[in-house]
Amino acid sequence: MSQDKKGIVPDQGAATDVTLTLSRRRFVQGLGATVGVIAAGTLPAFITARAASATDPSTVTAADALAPGGEAEEPLARILAGDHSVNYPGKPVYYADPAGKQKWAMVIDVKACVGCRKCVYACVKENNIGRTSGFTYIQVLQMAPGSVDLEEGTVYYEKGGSPDHWYLPVQCMHCSKPTCVYGCPVQATWKEPDGTVLIDYHKCIACRNCMITCPYFARHFNWVEPEVPKGEVNPDVPLEEKAGVVEKCTFCVQRTRNGKTTACTEACPVGARKFGDLSDPDSDVSVLLRTRRTFRLKEHLGTGPMIWYVG
Ligand code: SF4
Ligand code: SF4
Repeated sequence: MSQDKKGIVPDQGAATDVTLTLSRRRFVQGLGATVGVIAAGTLPAFITARAASATDPSTVTAADALAPGGEAEEPLARILAGDHSVNYPGKPVYYADPAGKQKWAMVIDVKACVGCRKCVYACVKENNIGRTSGFTYIQVLQMAPGSVDLEEGTVYYEKGGSPDHWYLPVQCMHCSKPTCVYGCPVQATWKEPDGTVLIDYHKCIACRNCMITCPYFARHFNWVEPEVPKGEVNPDVPLEEKAGVVEKCTFCVQRTRNGKTTACTEACPVGARKFGDLSDPDSDVSVLLRTRRTFRLKEHLGTGPMIWYVG
């Protein structure tokens, strides 16, 4: 597999016929996750690799799913077919309709990520996140080398780039089976046909059930009126409605339905993030999933996160 510090590079020649069995771990500091990763080029002892089976969906890697030809085409269809709209009201409240038949996904290279948090800052600016809200849609965990023990990881580090650590950015996974959506009693949140999970801030009754039912702790309650400096308000993202409701990453729907990539992808100085259309076999994300060893957080839960990690 090719790997460089400039970011994730599709490697057309790499064979990726293994899947990772992920151990159960809790995210520390409210993040909760299960993860398998190849850190510093080695597999931690508690991650096991096994041959993928085309008949058992739990053992199908993204690479198997997206490989052209033979049995692998069936799992590809399974992933795409398994990601469908849930409680979709037909017309998004704030944003443009899905632009086409895209199925949005993201791939993050944890080996390239330097933990600089530029993605976090770009997201805050782009999405009118209150500067005093006390949360961000993206969090970057600093992890111990060669370990995926998340209890050893922390979001409280001063500067990234430590040679003694690796970094794990997390955010809403835009799950195929979004437990947050199932948990909302008033259908104020839904999943759209292009895969994005959105929230109607007018409908949200602030019960916070979705925060409880999200296994990734990706949703955040806004206790205060979002405070955004006047000159920095993004008119494409609702602001006034956001006090006393739940917020989270939208895959920058205001950008991605208008031909742009997400703000975090654009801001990453090392190209650790790739965002694109999984239904396009030539997109960056499709090629990466086809050619690189990948993992997803808490894969055993069956939520079907649409963010994959490579490393
Ligand atoms: Fe919902 Fe959480 Fe999945 Fe995002 S990560 S879609 S908030 S369950
Ligand atoms: Fe990692 Fe890129 Fe985010 Fe920096 S901007 S923390 S390198 S993903």
